[in-house]
Amino acid sequence: MVMLDRIPEYVNPLSLADKRREFKGEFSLLSMQRLSGLLANCEGRVQFHLFFSKQGKLATITGEIEAEVYLECQNCLEPMLHDIRKTVQLGIINSIEEMGKLGDHLEPFVQSEDKIAFREIVEDEIILSIPDVPKHTELCLEQILGKAENELEKGVQKESPFSILKDLKKTGV
Ligand SMILES: [Zn+2]
Repeated sequence: MVMLDRIPEYVNPLSLADKRREFKGEFSLLSMQRLSGLLANCEGRVQFHLFFSKQGKLATITGEIEAEVYLECQNCLEPMLHDIRKTVQLGIINSIEEMGKLGDHLEPFVQSEDKIAFREIVEDEIILSIPDVPKHTELCLEQILGKAENELEKGVQKESPFSILKDLKKTGV
């Protein structure tokens, strides 16, 4: 296992693929600014295990990325926990015109510069797996409205003018 402090900040995926390198570690969500902008909060970490290797002549990045993130439910606007377990299957190409080089099972990773921030490879994969309109699977809004109604009813009972009168009588004023 490659320790966290040995993961290079910038990498050349093509040359890592030639060397068949493997990286395992984690990043904090706080360190991923574009991603954290999409989240309800920045609590949590991202774990990755990535292999740079080759399938024939094609350089590839494969492996797994896992994260637990909080998204804002678009129904009730409360945070909701969203589990991400993504299998990474990327074929490295120089431009989108080379898409034809990728088989059915590989997604394109366009390497336009020699040096790529390693963190951004992981960050992009997570951003791609975040749903456009996250929503709780349960009827969250209905539950919240129901609760608010209950509390409102309780509140009304507590401050009923009759109960205040009763209290006044008890104290014998
Ligand atoms: Zn909700």
